[in-house]
Amino acid sequence: AAKRGGRSRFCNFTVEMQSVVQHRLALEANLRGALERGEIELWYQPQLDIKDMRLVGVEALMRWCHPERGWVSPGEFIPIAEESGLIVELGDWAIAEACAQAAQWHSEGLLAGPVAVNVSAAQLIRGGMAEKVDNILARSNISAPMLQLEMTESMFLHESGSLSETLESFNRRGLRLAVDDFGTGYSNLGYLKRLPLAKLKIDKSFVLSLPDDVEDAVITRTIVSMAVGLNLRVIAEGVETREQLAYLQQIGCHEGQGFLFGRPQPADELTARMRSAQGWLVDE
Ligand code: C2E
Ligand code: MG
Ligand code: MG
Ligand code: MG
Repeated sequence: AAKRGGRSRFCNFTVEMQSVVQHRLALEANLRGALERGEIELWYQPQLDIKDMRLVGVEALMRWCHPERGWVSPGEFIPIAEESGLIVELGDWAIAEACAQAAQWHSEGLLAGPVAVNVSAAQLIRGGMAEKVDNILARSNISAPMLQLEMTESMFLHESGSLSETLESFNRRGLRLAVDDFGTGYSNLGYLKRLPLAKLKIDKSFVLSLPDDVEDAVITRTIVSMAVGLNLRVIAEGVETREQLAYLQQIGCHEGQGFLFGRPQPADELTARMRSAQGWLVDE
């Protein structure tokens, strides 16, 4: 019986594996062409200066509306896009789209700060990104400092000469670079002094249990004081409660982003909120 049980567990395992693989392949096949079919959108989430609670930027986050499955989260399709190479095309599109949207908000006086776009390692490795960005900025009528590129800390794990050259060339153009998911990337912190960075984004896993969790509070405080000491801006991700906000304000964190101020939302919804006289605190 034990043997049969073992075998059937083994069978279930392979069947499961097979369906995971099939699911992935199906998603990848669907993702190819999703952009042309108009299924990909950028949604935007507000970033606030938490001292005066004013809007200082927005982050563009990709959304895929699959014709049968509905909204597929980036957590599911970005890794597939990265492994299949599709991220290069999607990522270039995201920069162009976000810049066009930023130009519109700037021209209407609705946004003074930058739009932040997430960038994958594959886009940097492919090369030619600085020139692509030049073309996009020239077409969209916004200045380089109004585009912020977010890169996860794990991208700095293997710091290479070509990575720092690329980042230097972004910096010469006036683009601002932010380290995303800071504190989770297992990186040697030396990159903080060598690379031309503008901002650290404290990963939401540290923010979640603030202010009660003592370890998270220490980690968050330390990141803030390190950022201040290094002359970097610092923003906390995943701010959901007033208690978290109060703690972040108390320790001198510059900015916050999270459901407390607004979820990622379509551009026209965020435009309506920018126009409204209401503040940025979403009532819980
Ligand atoms: P990220 O860049 O760290 O984005 C922040 C994520 O946290 C977003 O998830 C956002 O919806 C979520 N978030 C924001 N506020 C809160 C909050 O208060 N509580 C909680 N629990 N979550 C919050 P999302 O939109 O699902 O994106 C996931 C990840 O996918 C992003 O993490 C980013 O790494 C990647 N991604 C999204 N769009 C793009 C893109 O255009 N290009 C690339 N390369 N990656 C992207
Ligand atoms: Mg990000
Ligand atoms: Mg993040
Ligand atoms: Mg993240």
